This record gives sequence, structure tokens and C-alpha cells, in this order.
Amino acid sequence: MSAAAQNLTASPAARAFLARDHRLLIGGQWVPSASGETIDVFDPATEGHLAKVSGGGKEDIDRAVQAARRAFRGEWSKLTSYERTKLIWKLADELEANLALASELETLDNGMPLMVAQYSIASFGCDFLRYYAGWATKITGDTIPVSPGGVRNGESLTYTRREPIGVVGAIIPWNAPLIMATLKLGPALAAGCTVVLKPAEQTPLTALFLGELVKRVGFPDGVINIVPGLGESAGAALAAHPDVDKIAFTGSTEVGKKIISAAAGNLKRVTLELGGKSPMVVFPDADLERVIPGVTRGAFFLQGQNCMAGTRLFVHQDIFDRVVSRVGDMANKFRIGPGLSPDSDLGPLISAEQRERVMTYVASGRKSGAELVCGGEAMPGRGFFVKPTLFSKTNMDMQIAREEIFGPVLCAQSFGDSDLQAVADEANKSIYGLSGSVWTRDISVAHRMAGLIDAGQVSINCHAAVDPAIPFGGNKQSGWGREFGREGLDPYLKTKATTVIY
Ligand code: ADP
Repeated sequence: MSAAAQNLTASPAARAFLARDHRLLIGGQWVPSASGETIDVFDPATEGHLAKVSGGGKEDIDRAVQAARRAFRGEWSKLTSYERTKLIWKLADELEANLALASELETLDNGMPLMVAQYSIASFGCDFLRYYAGWATKITGDTIPVSPGGVRNGESLTYTRREPIGVVGAIIPWNAPLIMATLKLGPALAAGCTVVLKPAEQTPLTALFLGELVKRVGFPDGVINIVPGLGESAGAALAAHPDVDKIAFTGSTEVGKKIISAAAGNLKRVTLELGGKSPMVVFPDADLERVIPGVTRGAFFLQGQNCMAGTRLFVHQDIFDRVVSRVGDMANKFRIGPGLSPDSDLGPLISAEQRERVMTYVASGRKSGAELVCGGEAMPGRGFFVKPTLFSKTNMDMQIAREEIFGPVLCAQSFGDSDLQAVADEANKSIYGLSGSVWTRDISVAHRMAGLIDAGQVSINCHAAVDPAIPFGGNKQSGWGREFGREGLDPYLKTKATTVIY
């Protein structure tokens, strides 16, 4: 499909948005970048040009941080927690009222099927914001019954306050752009922080759309600043900025390590949600009617461009051939096409570079002796489409089984009647520890195996169960800290202990 044809299928509202002059949101104003630089944004389904966006650099980041600092000290800090709740809730309502347009822009920019965009923005955009809106009034400290300094009981009082950490730099990736923005904003705003958000250079559009909603809702100027820009300039400047108190980063493990070094200058706090190579472990008694769709979607959701993707399938030898063949059949039946088409189950990868990366891994898989069950090809024509690919007979010495591909490539290997620890050891043979799933009808095996998998979250008889209330994050090189739920607030708060001796 040509770029022009694709754009014709976009709604008038989306076309009107794309045609706008896309600037940076700093201190409540839409401003051009200091350097005048721009970023071209493309539709990965057609390779057509979608929009030109101001590209922020060091100077813009500095202006945004200053605006965020002023806002942190200003009106925002005087609002009651109820007022913060109402503003965050209102943002969720605005997003919901604009769900159709927000989803369409997400699909145009990122490529994901429209239904996936709608579902994810409704639950991890709107509901997620509402979940954290509710937390603003529930952030409490403790009273501590001690008598420091030798005073007698009843002669002193010690209590803790949980204060907002300050200015937060949020750096997010391209695989689910809008919800990544809300995942950072929700807890930061509930805690009373202010934010400089840097979307990924490939997908800045829905963050900018969110900026329009932020202005409509009436957040005080500078509470939310949005600066699209390149990782190595805007991202690096934010990570290194001496007046940023915390970085909340989602992206690759490689960049996560750079963020840590950059953050060392002022010892700002860092939370990292990084890569994964998550195992899905299927025992012989599992209900295959659940396993087949569950693991196939677990692997190929968002074309595998998903940190929680189940990319390693461990299946008991008694059912291995059956499972592999049925997963391959289901993967083959996925309809691949532009996200705006209601017939597409899977969209394109984000870029030519990403397609290249995935195809290099596919070549490595073939070379290493893994058996190609399905896929293994990029689709001809326009758009960065790659067929869902399943390799069987893989092992943990192979590069495709060890490294995060971030694309639609699933590696399957069998296990025998060894004890659970041995199966878990194989599943845990990874530098990552983000997610995992166990498939069995035996509750003892299910819970024991869930306990043995070294990951931040394990699902039983489903893969990647996520909810705003369920803590989410990784072990090992999958990250630092947890997002979501009560724990997701902690990194945005600092504790102050106060003691009075009467
Ligand atoms: P991916 O590999 O999936 O593109 P990245 O980790 O490269 O993911 O990118 C995630 C986010 O990190 C993006 O917003 C990107 O611009 C940003 N980024 C990339 N490099 C740096 C860097 N050196 N410092 C800070 N942010 C960066």
C-alpha cells in the first residue's frame, strides 16, 4: 500500500493532527527547539512520511528541567492531594474521550493493530491514570514509638513524611509509546513530582497529543513537559542533568547502563525497566487448548516488540512435537498487515533497522542448526513486516536463545523428566529476569515452578498478566525497581524522619 493510500485511510481528525506544527511542550507553552532541528516521523506500515516534529536537544532539556523545577516549587506544591487526584483523573477522562484519535495516531506512528492500541490505551492509559489518581490521597508516613536522646516515653514524637522526590526525567521507548507515557506520569503526578518526558524519536506523536490533553485539563504550567529528541542528545542530557532528581527509564539494557553512568553525576535515583528473554514452561498435563493460543500470543503480541514477550518456549518432551506444530500453525495463520486494517492481527516492526536486526538473528538461528518451523522471512513490498518465526530444537548456547531480539522470533526446546530445579535452571539461564509463565494443571508444580523462575513476575496458565495494581519490573539485567501498584509509587517519594523532643 502506498503512503498516500495509507494516509487516505486515516481519519480527518488524525490527518489534521499530523499536519500541525509539532513543537515542544515546555513550561505550558508549545515552543520550537532551540536549534531549530526537526525529526521526521514515518509510518512503519507504509514507510510514508507522517509528520515533522521539533527535535529537542541539551538546551531544550535544560529549559524543560528549569520549568519543571519552578512548577515543583510553585502552585503544584500547594495543591491538595484531592486536587492532584482530580487533575490526574481528568486527564484519564480526556484520554478516554479521545480514545479513537489517540489509538489511531498510535497505530499510524508505531504500527500496532488498532484494536491493540485501543485496548492498551483504555487499560494502561486511562485505567492506569485512574489507579494512580486514587493513590494521591493515600501516601502516608509512620509514627515511630521510640524516645531518642534518652528522653522518657511520652516526651517526644517521631514521625515520617513521604515527600515527592522532585523533578523526574521520564525516558520511554517506541514499542507502546502512549501507555509508556502514562505509566511514568501516573505515579509521578500522584506523588506530587513534576516531569520532563522524552518520548522515543521514532514515535513522538501520541506523547505530543497527550500534551494537548494536559493543557486542556489545566495542569499548572511546567508540571508536565514533553521534549521529543534523539536519545544521544535529549535523552543523554536528561539523564545527566544536575537538577533532575530521578530518571524513570524504559528501554534496552544497553541504554539502561548508559543512563546509570550519566546519572552518577548528581547521584539521581534511577528506575529501569529493561530487556527480557522470558521463558514459558509447559508441563505434559497442561491444557493445550489454553497453551497454544496463550504461548503463541505471548510470543508474538506487538510483533514480539515487547519486553515481556515469551521468547523461549520450554515444553516437556512428551508433548513437544504436538505443541510446536500447533504453535507454528497458529503463527502461520496470523494476518499480517497495516495496523489500521481491521483484518490485521500483527503489524509491522518499527523500522527498517529493526527488521534488519531481526533478520540477522533469523540468519544466526538457521546457521546455528535450529530447525525453522515457520516464518523466517521479511515480507516483500512496503512496510517493515516480518513473518512470525518459530525455531525448534534450540538450546541455550545459541545466540537466538540467549539474546533479546525484540521481534517475532520464538525459540522452542524440550525438557525431560528431570526435577523442577533442573527445568528452572535451564529457564533461568539468561542475563534477564523480567517475566515468565508456567502451564500445568498441577497446582503444586505450578506454584513450585513459579517460585523457582527468577523473574519479576510469573503467570500461571497465561503469559504476562499485567494490571495497574500488579507490581511490574525485572530481576538481573531486566532492570532496577518495580513499577505499578503501591510499590510503583516508592521511587517517586523520599522519606523524611522528623523528631521533636517536647
Ligand atoms: P530501543 O533499542 O528499543 O530503541 P532504546 O533503549 O534505544 O530502545 O531507547 C529507549 C529510549 O531511550 C528512547 O527514548 C531513546 O531515545 C532513549 N535513549 C537512547 N539512547 C540514550 C542515551 N544514551 N541516553 C538517554 N536516553 C537514550
